[in-house]
Amino acid sequence: MENPEILGDLEERFIQPYQATKTYICPGCNRDIPPGLGHIVIVPVDAPDLRRHWHRGCWTRRRPG
Ligand SMILES: [Zn+2]
Repeated sequence: MENPEILGDLEERFIQPYQATKTYICPGCNRDIPPGLGHIVIVPVDAPDLRRHWHRGCWTRRRPG
């Protein structure tokens, strides 16, 4: 999901450290988000199956457009 804006409206959900129980791959940096690390989930409102887990910093610094 290099260009998440094309997916339309996005919902940002903050995951607290205690809620992070699995390892995810951040599409911003292609590195692990390990269990226990607070992060953010981006959920396309029209396509919730395409949700992605991001490091908070990677989401903030993502390239526009
Ligand atoms: Zn990242």
